[in-house]
Amino acid sequence: MSHVFPRHCHVQLPTAVGGEGVWLIDSDGKRYLDGSGGAAVSCLGHGDAEVTGAIKAQLDRLAFAHTGFLTSEPAEALADLLIRHAPGDLDRVYFVSGGSEATEAAIKLARQYWVEKGQPQRSRLIARRQSYHGNTIGALSAGGNAWRRQQFGPLLLDVSHIAPCYEYRDRADGETAEDYGIRAAEALRTEIERLGPDTVMAFMAEPVVGATAGAVPPAPGYYRRIREICDEYGILLILDEVMCGMGRTGTLFACEQDGIAPDILCIAKGLGAGYQPVGAMLCSRAIYEAIAQGSGFFQHGHTYIGHPVATAAGLAVLRAILGRDLLAQVRDRGETLHSALQARLGQHPHVGDIRGRGLFRGIEIVEDRASKAPFDPQRKVAAALKKAAFARGLICYPMSGTIDGRTGDHILLAPPFIITEAEIGMLVDRLAGAMDEVLGVAA
Ligand code: PMP
Repeated sequence: MSHVFPRHCHVQLPTAVGGEGVWLIDSDGKRYLDGSGGAAVSCLGHGDAEVTGAIKAQLDRLAFAHTGFLTSEPAEALADLLIRHAPGDLDRVYFVSGGSEATEAAIKLARQYWVEKGQPQRSRLIARRQSYHGNTIGALSAGGNAWRRQQFGPLLLDVSHIAPCYEYRDRADGETAEDYGIRAAEALRTEIERLGPDTVMAFMAEPVVGATAGAVPPAPGYYRRIREICDEYGILLILDEVMCGMGRTGTLFACEQDGIAPDILCIAKGLGAGYQPVGAMLCSRAIYEAIAQGSGFFQHGHTYIGHPVATAAGLAVLRAILGRDLLAQVRDRGETLHSALQARLGQHPHVGDIRGRGLFRGIEIVEDRASKAPFDPQRKVAAALKKAAFARGLICYPMSGTIDGRTGDHILLAPPFIITEAEIGMLVDRLAGAMDEVLGVAA
């Protein structure tokens, strides 16, 4: 009997014993194509010798030094490299161990910034209904994923949630994508005015929505207007690129494609690429200076922040992404994946939308294409798709519709950046087979 507390209490999972490239191997020798990189984590695939070599070398040199006393070479080098490639005036990097820690730290940093600036009345956070920012209490409060929040309501912070930017369902007939982007962004102004502008501290959003809705990119112009509104009211913009950052969309940071930079940027997942648990929060010079010139101390911290081995892994991953020209490869293979999905599933009677950027792609499943009606959640379509794909040796990331009862089930694909064209073909074949089996239709 296993003593590991599993995600699903009544499911006996196979045991992973190895990984090579895009493949994971279990103790029976079965091979799984890792079509979602776990949850958009394994951007370099499995068994990358350069990254494992960097980790081993760091372990031999120094495993741990508490950041209350000492900094370390890999943490300094990784912060330098991140800042060199970060958009806007992001200037400082606060290392953590994962995505929830990054968003949680961002919420606290935004709050402390306003306290240091002598505006302690600013405590309101605005986020979006279509979002996931992590599972700790602050991060869960910011997220709009109803399923993840439902049992914890009384414990959550009072965060405002506005409508997401969700073209597939919310763009009106005859409305251009640009007009819709502006209209969607203006929901932020409405909420700021409703709350009282000088009570708001920050707005938090995922540039490309990940697990909650399946790789939903913003409409053109949406984030430029969001940035303008934040600037107009002096509100901080926090972008959560925990899933969509680190090259996943074809640029190192997804927001580069929207022509904006945030005040605070959260990354994780692809930063450690699964080799180590590591995340980071990047903040602007102005935020850092407010704290440096104020109390001089960010009232936050965890034992393992800036861990030398974790940051050594992050450094090796970032060097690999940049040094092996993987961003260009993500853009190229992303187009191949998108075209293959369109060709195979674009006309499928239960596929409502195929979307995304780079190697971050989502498929929204609907019962009826014309009305966009989702399947009844009782049918548990996402769970069935996950199981059918897994049986075919494909790991993908299906989720049930959870937003306002509107979003259909969806599948998230986020394969390693090193996936070959042939492996993309296998991924799409296996996925289409699973969909035919579950949805009972030949594509
Ligand atoms: N933000 C986003 C956008 C995420 O996708 C996730 C994880 N799915 C998190 C935050 C939380 O990250 P972690 O699971 O590493 O705490």
